[in-house]
Amino acid sequence: MTTDFTATKRQFHLPQGVIYLDGNSLGPLPKAAAARVAETMLAEWGELLIRAWNQAGWMAMPARVGDRIARLIGAEPGHVVMGDTLSIKVYQALASCLQMRPGRRIILSDTGNFPSDLYMAQGLCRTLGGAYALKTVAPEDVLAAIDESTAVVMITEVDYRTGRRHDMAALSARAHAVGALIIWDLAHSAGAFPVGVAAGGADFAVGCSYKYLNSGPGGPAFVYVAPRHAETVQPALAGWLGHEAPFAFDRTYRPGAGVERMRVGTPPILQLAALDAALDVWDSVDLEDLRAQSLALTDRFIAGVEASCPMLTLVTPRPHAERGSQVSFRHAEGYAIMQALIAEGVIGDFRAPDILRFGFTPLYIGAEEVDGAVAILARIMASGSWDRPEFKARAKVT
Ligand SMILES: *Cc1c(COP(=O)(O)O)cnc(C)c1O
Repeated sequence: MTTDFTATKRQFHLPQGVIYLDGNSLGPLPKAAAARVAETMLAEWGELLIRAWNQAGWMAMPARVGDRIARLIGAEPGHVVMGDTLSIKVYQALASCLQMRPGRRIILSDTGNFPSDLYMAQGLCRTLGGAYALKTVAPEDVLAAIDESTAVVMITEVDYRTGRRHDMAALSARAHAVGALIIWDLAHSAGAFPVGVAAGGADFAVGCSYKYLNSGPGGPAFVYVAPRHAETVQPALAGWLGHEAPFAFDRTYRPGAGVERMRVGTPPILQLAALDAALDVWDSVDLEDLRAQSLALTDRFIAGVEASCPMLTLVTPRPHAERGSQVSFRHAEGYAIMQALIAEGVIGDFRAPDILRFGFTPLYIGAEEVDGAVAILARIMASGSWDRPEFKARAKVT
């Protein structure tokens, strides 16, 4: 192993007394991000004012930072751009795909997909007047459900609740064999393990930066368009910064070069600055090492919990190839158990109706944290200390 995970851990601000197993939902603060954002505010926004768009390279940031993410997702350089939130990027990719497959009316997804992705598809179908439909099948039935009626398959590679991982190459190959397109949502993949969108045959890929990539709350999403489509795709959200010449102020839209056309409006510079600093951590990380370490940690957690908490049921698949970097257990009182854990400093999260979810990020989580979390969970389960009214009152964010 060439990656020094004790060195990466030192690059994060991690609060005392906390074992953070929720970096799959909101990554922690990279120390360099705080300084970088302050510098961007004071030296660039403060001093350069509007000149910073040129002089500090702000206008080029969405593509420059996108290129840094390209390495992490196995994309060709120059084919990833940052902006908006993931839901918006899902919508853009979907609308583009429907336009590229006229005559086909089905968006195919699975019942485990994240609701926002499904909602975006439903909303788009409504906007198009009801001629289109979203079809969802169980995750294990997706391959068989792809057929000649499918315009686009929209799949989140790793299920946000169960941690189940789809086979990117197999589903992409099947989609292409019947003339369909495929969009991969990498929300729980980018920064979780080595991803290969080019090798895996993705037509489009989208993902967020605030989970495993640690850009902070509301950090921008990314979109990848395969080179074979980059010069022909017609973005449904045709914003001025995706125009060929934004400062020509033409009254008619003309798409920009390649993936730049997927940009919509003014980029979030402060969030991009935080992300740019967060990505520095990845410069010293070998993604194969990351995967090996992630599997060692998740195996250790599964073994520890199963040995000490027989009342919790593993819902994440055991085979390495079939999972990402999270582990989920099921329990009818999952919400209260997670609140009790959080009260003891072990932060994971809860996903309705009954899932306790734990994310493992080797950049700052090691065997010691895994063992600590197992011990606290075992104590809570053995003592029943979760069974208190204050742990059962639902907060807005779970
Ligand atoms: C986290 C997540 C989202 C969130 O979308 P935002 O628009 O960034 O809030 C969407 N889809 C999936 C699959 C996710 O995991």
